[in-house]
Amino acid sequence: MITGHCNCGAVRFEVTEPFVSANYCHCTRCQRRTGTAASAQGGVAPGSVRVLAGEELVGSWQPPDGFAKEFCTRCGSALWTRDPGSGEIAGVRLGVLDGDPGIRPRLRQFVAYAAPWEPIPDDGLPRFPERRPS
Ligand SMILES: [Zn+2]
Ligand SMILES: [Zn+2]
Repeated sequence: MITGHCNCGAVRFEVTEPFVSANYCHCTRCQRRTGTAASAQGGVAPGSVRVLAGEELVGSWQPPDGFAKEFCTRCGSALWTRDPGSGEIAGVRLGVLDGDPGIRPRLRQFVAYAAPWEPIPDDGLPRFPERRPS
C-alpha cells in the first residue's frame, strides 16, 4: 500500500494498486503548477486512489483542453490529475508520496517546451517533443 499527503497534512490518500506508468512532463502547465522544470507523475489504475482525509480541501483547475490539475487549497501541494471524461484520478504526483512508489519515470514528454534554464538530464530516458504516444 502506497500512501501520500500534502505539505500541511490535511489531504491524505492511499494508492491501492501498483502504479501502471510513470513519466516526467516538461510542459509549461507542469512548470507553472510545480514551479520547477518538470513534473514527475505516476499513472494509476482507475479507482485505485482513495482519499482518506481532506477531500473537501482538494481544489481543481480544469483547463479547456486537458486533464484537471488538483491540489490542496490550504497549502498548495500538487496532488493528482483527473480525467474529465471518466471523472477518475488518472495520475498522482510522485513528490507527494510518503515512500517508494515502486516505479521509476520511464520517459520524458513535452520536451519541446522544456525550461531554457535547466538542461534536460542525460539519463537515457526516451524523450518525446509532444505528448507521449499512448
Ligand atoms: Zn495541504
Ligand atoms: Zn505536463
